[in-house]
Amino acid sequence: MIIVLKANVSDEDIAVVEGKVTEFGYEPRVVQGVERTIIAAVGDEVTHKSLETLQNMPMIDRVVPIQKRYKLVSREFHRAPTSFNVGKNKIGDGNFMMIAGPCSVESREQLETVTKDIIASGVTVLRGGAYKPRTSPYDFQGLREEGLELLQEMKDTYGVSIVTEILGAPHVEKVAAVADVLQIGARNCQNYHLLEVVAGAGRTVLLKRGMSVTVQEWLSAAEYLLVHGCEDVILCERGIRTFEPATRSTLDLSAVAVAKKETHLPVIVDPSHAAGKADLVLPLSKAAIAVGADGLIVETHPNPSEASSDATQQIPSGSFDQFMSELQPFIDICFENRAK
Ligand code: PEP
Ligand code: MN
Repeated sequence: MIIVLKANVSDEDIAVVEGKVTEFGYEPRVVQGVERTIIAAVGDEVTHKSLETLQNMPMIDRVVPIQKRYKLVSREFHRAPTSFNVGKNKIGDGNFMMIAGPCSVESREQLETVTKDIIASGVTVLRGGAYKPRTSPYDFQGLREEGLELLQEMKDTYGVSIVTEILGAPHVEKVAAVADVLQIGARNCQNYHLLEVVAGAGRTVLLKRGMSVTVQEWLSAAEYLLVHGCEDVILCERGIRTFEPATRSTLDLSAVAVAKKETHLPVIVDPSHAAGKADLVLPLSKAAIAVGADGLIVETHPNPSEASSDATQQIPSGSFDQFMSELQPFIDICFENRAK
């Protein structure tokens, strides 16, 4: 950290700040300029206390952190891209993962139709919410335990891997018993207690970016998972809140490019929640792949207009094979180029 002192501070003032820096566990190095003095505090900013609390001292102008507040997720710490398996599918380091399924698990018939449709399109990672985070308490809240049972049934019958959302710490055990991937939704991105508990479940975690969370905050949330023992983390950009009403959220593709630079973890995109409209999902998916995403999570339903949640954004599962056949050449070209 760099501490910039105010103009014309006395030698006593400098000594006081040096003392504080030492007290916080850093080694102070004083650099005296013509008008200003700065003190470089040498030490590991991640494990030491932040010196930003010194900001209020009368002789200090500002404190500038140099190191990032996340370490385990950063490429500085771990250069090679991370890859791991979800069931038989690999993600990261040149391996693309497609996840598809309905917003909510609604019935056996609905889930079975989608499962067969995505498998016919070459996709074997099924998403589906059993516990749904809904803005209104009067909206469909998910089939909950019954939904988990249906997901388990699809896993047993069709061999698909399961991605499903976890809403609260008390559900971890029963959701982790079914899920290959525990999804932390946008609304829980900064629920640090939940992150800690989920990290200990022994499952891959898909961490969605909150709709008003910066990239740095998103990566710091992922750091919670790694610090608490979860190594297989997938980051997911799903759109942020902006002034633009033409789409449900604004898909922040810059954040994907930034995250890919900053972290070794796989980064995927959810174009469905970003767009809020089914016909935008294909172009946004292509854009996501072009910018460097390691995968996609897309909502699809046998009969979107009758869906219990997110009706406008789900692709009819009967035409999911068409969606995939339009996307696949694009995936192939982008991934071939990345391998070069
Ligand atoms: C979902 O995946 O259905 C969902 C609720 O997503 P998000 O948390 O991104 O809103
Ligand atoms: Mn949804």
